Amino acid sequence: MTSLDTPLRSIPRITPKYAKALEKLGLDTVQDFLLYFPFRYDDFSKTAELSYDCIGEMITVEGQVTKAKNNRIFKRRMTVTEIVIVDSNDTPLKIAWFNQPYILDSINIGSPIRVSGKLGVTGKSFTMSNPAWERSSRDTTNTGRLVPIYSETTGITSKWIRWQMKPLLPLAKDIPDILPEETRKKFHLFDIYTTITQIHFPDSPKKLLIAEKRIAFEKMFLVQLKALQVKKNWESKNAIDIRFEEKLIKNFVEKLPFRLTDAQRKASFEILKDLEKPRPMNRLLNGDVGSGKTVVAAIASLQTTAAGYQAALMAPTEVLAKQHFESFLKLFGIYGYRIGLLTNSYHYDGKTKVKRGNLLETVRAGKINILIGTHAIIQKDVAFKNLALVIIDEQHRFGIAQRAALQQDTMELKDGKDLVIPHLLTMTATPIPRTLAIAYFGSLDLSILDEMPKNRKPIITKVVTRKNRSQVQQFISDEIKSGRQVFVIFPLIEESRALVEVKAATAEYERLSKEIFPGFRLGLLHGKLKPKEKEKVMQDFKDKKTDILVSTSVVEVGVDIPNATVMIIENAERFGLSQLHQFRGRVGRAEYQSYCFLFTQSDTKKSQERLHALEKTNDGFEISKIDLELRGPGQFFGILQSGLPDIAMENITNLRLIKLSRSEALNILSEDPGLKKHPLIADALGKFSSSIHLE
Ligand code: ADP
Ligand code: MG
Repeated sequence: MTSLDTPLRSIPRITPKYAKALEKLGLDTVQDFLLYFPFRYDDFSKTAELSYDCIGEMITVEGQVTKAKNNRIFKRRMTVTEIVIVDSNDTPLKIAWFNQPYILDSINIGSPIRVSGKLGVTGKSFTMSNPAWERSSRDTTNTGRLVPIYSETTGITSKWIRWQMKPLLPLAKDIPDILPEETRKKFHLFDIYTTITQIHFPDSPKKLLIAEKRIAFEKMFLVQLKALQVKKNWESKNAIDIRFEEKLIKNFVEKLPFRLTDAQRKASFEILKDLEKPRPMNRLLNGDVGSGKTVVAAIASLQTTAAGYQAALMAPTEVLAKQHFESFLKLFGIYGYRIGLLTNSYHYDGKTKVKRGNLLETVRAGKINILIGTHAIIQKDVAFKNLALVIIDEQHRFGIAQRAALQQDTMELKDGKDLVIPHLLTMTATPIPRTLAIAYFGSLDLSILDEMPKNRKPIITKVVTRKNRSQVQQFISDEIKSGRQVFVIFPLIEESRALVEVKAATAEYERLSKEIFPGFRLGLLHGKLKPKEKEKVMQDFKDKKTDILVSTSVVEVGVDIPNATVMIIENAERFGLSQLHQFRGRVGRAEYQSYCFLFTQSDTKKSQERLHALEKTNDGFEISKIDLELRGPGQFFGILQSGLPDIAMENITNLRLIKLSRSEALNILSEDPGLKKHPLIADALGKFSSSIHLE
């Protein structure tokens, strides 16, 4: 007897050749097969009689075959199968299939068939090309309904899958439903059997939608359960409680050369409150480029250091680490704290360059209060004395393992006390739409800097097509003559294209230096330069020794050149809005009016329209929302790696669904924290967890 566990290869209709092809799709058993979902549908559900009203529409027509023949067209090396059917009104329909002569093996004059396709007209005759068809005596499987389309592999067509799927569907009754009946009732969700049958052979678009909703709910529910478990587990650990010294912080804030924004105040307060607890903070600080995350990080570090513990700050690049180091030296100048910098090329103890070994020694002895660096600070031989706070900037640029390493290292360092782990603050400069943040960072607490410092003027942005470039060149000259500086970016597209981009940037550098701006001084920055060379190029630009910096995307993250007022981005149409917004954030860092020119090669309206969104707003959260709608969530920090199923991905923008699934997850966990009463959920969660990674 066939059951859910029956291997597909032992089903007689499925020959070894097919079984092999299914294996390639990862489908071994009947259950696997039943859970192999279509990725789209052809809507053949409209059944109609032949009429001029239906021209151009997808319709299903029933009729009797009156003519049938194969025509070979030798010149074009193809066969056209031509048949004629007449419907119940005796209206004829001419049908043509290309290169499928075998169709005639199963079509006989006089037999009633059903065809689904787009109705056309030639002269006075109704026509259809390459329609789907089946005998009228069969159930609607390939015609006359919403017809599922599966992603195909060599040797397997959707049609074949449909024929196999149909007779196996009743077995889906035996698939255990992980969603409790109560939950299903509460949210009006189908049971698993109805869901599976409706996903494969939907009775109506509406039922399909309900079935898809159930799948999305289930996946999101598991995601949220997992997130809540991670959170709970995190909260069960020990951390050092660091007292909030109001006077100290107030004093620090008053001495800053600017007034904190309300958002910065609120975020700092949330963080300082977290630090007071004897369990580790796990907070994400999400704020646009330039929203002032560094000073918030500094406030948290200050409190930690003042209490006698160490803090560590990890940045994704040397340039950024150095910049943070310099900011911290300035911010903490009066406090006499020791700040270290550790990257592959820099080892600094305060302003003094030291040997790596010596730096590690002072870190281990606890004499370095704040260690700043790249992933170099998670190398095996780096150890702290009493690390209590870890800050990770641009967190998405680090692997999960790297992030974990910084905390684990210190776990081994028991300090003679209870096992403690440091508080963790992660920062990201990609404004993440709130829905996405809740969905993916359900295990984190969230602080948002959604307010820019007051002194910023919005950056004026213009999309520039080829014919308007010369005007921009004139504009650039004027800006430089008035003392400002300019970025020209050739953004990196993918890692494998790095060399191409370096070449493009180099060629552009040559062209600009020789032909366009021979009177100005240009710098060239790209990823193939050695760190020392990079440093020099950046330093020259900072010191105003160069006017124009031509760069690949290495300049993308965090660099701070307040005197630069113009950002030019080449091939802007190739990038997501959020990413362009990130590049744009490199200017507008001081009181000068700044400009961003998006150069595009593409003259299509659509791609220009998309870019125009950047002309209209400077609000990164707004832009990311538009981007999420246009390009989906995948582009946000390697989320795709999380391995969420497609349907859950598609529904990620569905805030309601996320909220409901989260509340239900909370509900179930509060009643049954260990999921003892919900073994099916526990089991599904176990399988699911091994395929996704949560922060
Ligand atoms: P990001 O959030 O991109 O890391 P930074 O922390 O680098 O931003 O801050 C960008 C610039 O804004 C820095 O030069 C910083 O000194 C300055 N800044 C930060 N907060 C404020 C504020 N409240 N008012 C004015 N300038 C600020
Ligand atoms: Mg920053």
